Amino acid sequence: MTDEIVAAFPDIDILTHEPLSTYTNTKTGGPADFLAFPESVTAVQQLLQYANEHQIPVTVIGNASNLIVKDGGIRGLVMILTRMQQHTIDGTHLTVAAGASLIEVTKLAQHASLSGLEFAAGIPGSVGGAIFMNAGAYGGEISNVAESVQVLTPDAQLKTIVGADLDFSYRHSRVQDEGDVVLSATFALTSGDGTAIQAEMDDLNAKRAAKQPLELPSCGSVFKRPTGYFAGKLIHDAGLQGYQFGGAQVSTKHAGFIVNVDHATASDYLAVIQHVQAVVFEKEHVHLETEVRIIGEAPAAS
Ligand SMILES: Cc1cc2nc3c(=O)[nH]c(=O)nc-3n(C[C@H](O)[C@H](O)[C@H](O)COP(=O)(O)OP(=O)(O)OC[C@H]3O[C@@H](n4cnc5c(N)ncnc54)[C@H](O)[C@@H]3O)c2cc1C
Repeated sequence: MTDEIVAAFPDIDILTHEPLSTYTNTKTGGPADFLAFPESVTAVQQLLQYANEHQIPVTVIGNASNLIVKDGGIRGLVMILTRMQQHTIDGTHLTVAAGASLIEVTKLAQHASLSGLEFAAGIPGSVGGAIFMNAGAYGGEISNVAESVQVLTPDAQLKTIVGADLDFSYRHSRVQDEGDVVLSATFALTSGDGTAIQAEMDDLNAKRAAKQPLELPSCGSVFKRPTGYFAGKLIHDAGLQGYQFGGAQVSTKHAGFIVNVDHATASDYLAVIQHVQAVVFEKEHVHLETEVRIIGEAPAAS
């Protein structure tokens, strides 16, 4: 592929052969052929139309906090939406662009004395990633507050989808099935007391800091919660805490996390994931399904 796409969009920042390890929360991952930072809905739409016309594969990411990008990187165009940050508040409705940090959005809501997003105070994703994943914590879920979402369909048509049609379930939304690009979300919140909202957020963040290895790079909980079990407990009981391959290690603080302790590669992460799945299945007969999204290509054999 040539650099024609860079020349076609002089007003959009597009980097070539850009290492995605700079952007992922695990600090691992190979290069994107083209990495674009669109700042508006129009820019995303134009990039998608161009890619479709030129048969260029497109990948959209947010804060890369739930991603393992394989060491061979991603072919085609990758769009990071984190420069799309606009928000509006209309009564108890908060509308936010997909690239906004969910943590910053919880602060906006608190500042406006709007309740409903407290559960997300420590989730380090973007709004788009949170919709895609139906992010949740401490009994709350994005599905509880997502009133509607504006998306681009894979053929670059703008569409609004109401929450009831987003097919939300545990760490799943319809966006995963349709391949839509989330552009913004409207959250339906309730009037609350700013001080109480802040206290709830502080409490949840303190719980998180006590249990999770926030001081090291990771991608959060690697595995989904299997029905009737807790992934972290299964991993702990299988004696896997501290297991390390290359620079990736099953966290000694929270067994559900895999942390980058020493210049890990994505291949190190994948090796630890496969080992954990195999040992837990052998010892406890439970299959651990990954929650983290694994994308991109394996490195070329040397
Ligand atoms: C320390 C830590 C703690 C965490 N705690 C939690 C937690 O408590 N609860 C929880 O649910 N998660 C948690 N996570 C995981 C993660 O933060 C969430 O899954 C978050 O919603 C991912 O958002 P993101 O923007 O980082 O998505 P990314 O990692 O960038 O992408 C994840 C997936 O979403 C897709 N995607 C992203 N943006 C868009 C978009 N605009 N349109 C279409 N598709 C898109 C990507 O293609 C990818 O498949 C944690 C992660 C870390 C590192």
